[in-house]
Amino acid sequence: MSVKRAIVVGAGFAGATAARLLAEKGYEVAVLERRSAAGGGSNETLRPNGIVAQRYGPHIFHTKNEAVFRFLSRFCVWRPHEHRVLGSVRGALVPIPFNFRSIELLFPPAESEALKSALRRYYPADARAPVLALMTHESAMVKKLGEFVMEYVFLRYTAKQWGIPPNQVDRSVLDRVPVVMGYRDTYFDDPIQMMPWEGFNALFANMLRHPGIRLELALAERDGIRLDAEKGRVLWRGAPFDGPVIYTGNVDALLDCRFGRLPYRAVRFEFEDLPLDSYQPAAVVNYPNDWEFTRITEFKKITGQQAAGATCVLREYPTDSDRHEPCYPVENPANRALYDRYTREMRRYPNIVLCGRLAEYRYYNMDQAVASAMDKVAAID
Ligand code: FAD
Ligand code: UDP
Repeated sequence: MSVKRAIVVGAGFAGATAARLLAEKGYEVAVLERRSAAGGGSNETLRPNGIVAQRYGPHIFHTKNEAVFRFLSRFCVWRPHEHRVLGSVRGALVPIPFNFRSIELLFPPAESEALKSALRRYYPADARAPVLALMTHESAMVKKLGEFVMEYVFLRYTAKQWGIPPNQVDRSVLDRVPVVMGYRDTYFDDPIQMMPWEGFNALFANMLRHPGIRLELALAERDGIRLDAEKGRVLWRGAPFDGPVIYTGNVDALLDCRFGRLPYRAVRFEFEDLPLDSYQPAAVVNYPNDWEFTRITEFKKITGQQAAGATCVLREYPTDSDRHEPCYPVENPANRALYDRYTREMRRYPNIVLCGRLAEYRYYNMDQAVASAMDKVAAID
């Protein structure tokens, strides 16, 4: 019987999931990763002071998708972790998503009571409403609160994060962080919110440990896949490759940016190690104001690591610069049209499947990248 071979480009959540599932279908899978470690955005590093930090920003696993959770649970033991975020607003640290406690901290008592009772009139307890919906609400009180939240929580953060004003940012992006009509203060609303006990690196090591998987790290450019445009086929190490190829990198790069660069917002990450038990009162503090960074993460408070007298914090500076890793697809109709142009061109290579946050140009969370890979591999024999 001939050996079935597959290639997976990229060893983040999408790539590692695809590789594992293909290997379990009997494929011999080469996973080609240009970084020196697997894990994609969730990869961890050990700081000189012994603190585990996430190299590409705070990553907390959360999902509604039980199939994804069951799949990942094969590779780790979980620790329940509800993520909480504070925002530095007018000199106070208030819960984000903005909730009743945030109102109480920022408005005088009488006004705060009036705002909360207006919200209670229109929304069930703990409902979550997009800030843009509040801003166009029929109630003047609700509208006023919406405008306040836009001004003090979204405006400057969004301008820093995306380099454009909020009215040019796709609505779905702002809807990720709604206003909460009660005191619930978890950042995410998903029923499953967890961190892997031994970290994401261990989760990836377990997922990729399979006799059918060969992981190639720190891959040189010349060892990656190539496209033979004339014959519409994939070349790998000088020979045609006609098995399934799951590609999880930037799609424009695969086609030499021939239709122009597809915009991905990047982030410059600045770490600081400190001889402190604790730096800030929450795992993440957002700075929706004039600081150049968007947020500060203190990793111990996400990973649960116990370490006296040592901590590590990360400041995130969004940028367009090519010198930093692409992190966020920039959703808008023009970019979607450009992306579609690239995917039409990719139809010439029928054995390539685009999968994951970069390749599908979707603002996926980790669980959605896993779900996409599960779907895509299910369609491969
Ligand atoms: P990636 O993780 O980006 O992996 C792609 C991999 O492919 C990378 O390792 C890359 O080096 C490699 N690669 C790319 N091109 C090539 C090539 N040509 N050759 C070889 N290798 C290549 N999600 C959550 O669920 N919870 C969170 O709390 C969360 N926080 C986030 C915070 C930040 C700052 C960012 C940017 C994202 C966050 N996410 C979070 C989203 C999460 O990072 C993504 O959903 C997830 O990483 C997507 O996995 P992926 O495999 O599609 O892509
Ligand atoms: N956002 C904001 N202020 C905040 C938090 C979020 O303006 O305090 C906006 C901002 O535009 C951001 C978007 O909401 O890009 C989505 O936030 P999320 O925390 O989901 O972003 P991520 O964790 O993916 O960086």
